Parts: sequence; structure tokens; C-alpha cells
Amino acid sequence: MRAITPPVCDGCGDPLPSWRAISVATARCARCRRGPRAVDRGRAIGLYDGSLREIIHAWKYQGRRSIARALAARLRVEGAELLAGADIAVPVPLHPRRRRARGFNQAADLARGLGLPVVEALRRVRHTRSQVELPAARRHGNVRDAFERGAPGRRWPGCPPFRSVEGLCVVLVDDVSTTGATLEACARMLKAAGAREVRALTAARVAGRRP
Ligand SMILES: [Zn+2]
Repeated sequence: MRAITPPVCDGCGDPLPSWRAISVATARCARCRRGPRAVDRGRAIGLYDGSLREIIHAWKYQGRRSIARALAARLRVEGAELLAGADIAVPVPLHPRRRRARGFNQAADLARGLGLPVVEALRRVRHTRSQVELPAARRHGNVRDAFERGAPGRRWPGCPPFRSVEGLCVVLVDDVSTTGATLEACARMLKAAGAREVRALTAARVAGRRP
């Protein structure tokens, strides 16, 4: 696997050019320095490439669900700093149609291995095309209004009743982050629902495809 080695952006976790670590005290990428983002901090096991990409494909598309446990174990190491002090894990939801077709939500499987209570606080209300298939410029539009947050105590079919995220430090979990548009859309929902902080953990991230 191609690990994401320091220096990385202190915010989103993107790799930074190596000179940045020496020249600035708080290492942040250009995008994170442009303004506050709903995702406060993000980390991944490695780049969506080579063997990690193959592992994720076997997990998602060949239904090898036990892979989630191994990836979660790695994520607990790579994301230890982000898991420390967090209250709950919220998986990025799949649209019910895609979930039925796949039989499981890989993000929820991954979230269950992180040692935090898992709360399915978000629902996908609009079927969107896979982010990986779209050019970066179209991804934010693709996920806009695609998510909905629930009210405390409300129950969606197939989901346990969830508690409020108000005042909580939430770890948002997904398999792959491409441009970060999906994570950002979900984080905005969680912040609107009163989450104090939103951190994002993904098994892998696509490098160099950010707007
Ligand atoms: Zn950044």
C-alpha cells in the first residue's frame, strides 16, 4: 500500500510538498487555508492506488465483507489522533437502491470496527452517480442536496433509532474520498444538526484530484 507520509495537511490530511513542513508551523494545504470547511480534520490509511485499491474493490464489488475488519484495524492506527476524544462514528449512507443491490453499506461495516458507537444519522435522499466516474468539477453538484439528517428518536427503515449529534464530536466514515465533496456535504448536515466537530476517516483517498 502507498501510505500517506508526512508532511500532510493538518486539516484534510492531503499530502503536502515536503518544503511546507519546514516553512510553516501549522501545515495546511491551499484549499484548507482558503477558508473553514465543515470537515475539521481528515485522515486515510493510504492512497487509492495499487493494492489498497484492489483490496477495496474486493471488499465492495466481490462482497468480501470481512475485509472491513482488517481495514478498520489499520484505520484505528492511522487515525488514532482523530478517534481520540470522539463521541460517535457516522457512516456515509448509500442510497437505499444501491444498498439493496450491494447487500451492505461498506462505510457502516468500516465504522463498526472503529471502537465508537455507530449512529446512522444521515440518509441519502437522492440517487447520485458514483463520484469516481465524474470529473472533479462536477462532483460538488452531484452530491448537493443528496443527504438528509434525521431528527433524534426518528427511525428509518433498516436503521436503528439514532441519538442527536448535538454537541458531539463526530467521526464521519467512508471507504474512499475522491475530492472530499461527499464528506463535505455530510459534514455540513452534521454541523447543521449541532455537531461540535466533524472529523473524517476513509480507508483511502484519491490524491491530486481536488478542485
Ligand atoms: Zn487541507
